[in-house]
Amino acid sequence: MTQPETVAQILAELAGAAAEDILADAARRFPGRVALATSLGVEDQALTHMIAEAGLDIPIFTLDTGRLYPETYDLIDRTCKRYGLKIAVYCPNAREVEEMVARDGINLFRDSEHLRHGCCETRKVKPLRRAQAELDAWICGLRSGQGATRQKVDPVEWDAGAGILKVNPLAEWDEARVWDYVRAHDVPYNPLHDTGFPSIGCAPCTRAVAKGEDWRAGRWWWESPDHRECGLHQSHAGASAGDGTPADDDAGAAS
Ligand code: SF4
Repeated sequence: MTQPETVAQILAELAGAAAEDILADAARRFPGRVALATSLGVEDQALTHMIAEAGLDIPIFTLDTGRLYPETYDLIDRTCKRYGLKIAVYCPNAREVEEMVARDGINLFRDSEHLRHGCCETRKVKPLRRAQAELDAWICGLRSGQGATRQKVDPVEWDAGAGILKVNPLAEWDEARVWDYVRAHDVPYNPLHDTGFPSIGCAPCTRAVAKGEDWRAGRWWWESPDHRECGLHQSHAGASAGDGTPADDDAGAAS
């Protein structure tokens, strides 16, 4: 069966399935070969809650770029303690970061889109690929309509960049539904969400947004809106920007 046929078949089988059922299906379909990549964003926190409550055998990992907000590190700790689980933390190659910073500066991402993508590649994409090396599928909290680069998301997609399936249990959810779920279940979340941060990634590349501003306007705000992705979700960036550029954060404290 080709990859498009596999995706179409799984999508047909999951038609109308709840997020919890999509997660349970992933655990059954890919035993020991599927994991949740959490950015600790509110969507990923909802997924972590679902996995923990159902006792699903789905490991959880995140990406520590070295430039995260202190609140994000605190949330990793709070989440592990609340659910009695471990979140595996993947870091970039120290030598590669040292060489990049020595060559291009500590805040190279301000100097050009090219250098910014290089920073995301080193600090996010490469650690993500390492985390995905033994997987047949990865799970993340992408939703349709998350800004200019993520208009349409399906519950299951082929991730050409990773060469494995990507499962998006919240594909059909809107932001209000996520918050209703998090509040109803008292799910721990990043306090920055309460101060104007709908999307939280690296500290120097994320700012609060004003009411009514695009969901991802606070990410790499000095760049064109169509290119504000970091390489973690290439298919969506490519779909909207038409050039295959990447996505950012929602995979591990990365997004
Ligand atoms: Fe580097 Fe900013 Fe990308 Fe983080 S979001 S990896 S600091 S360019």
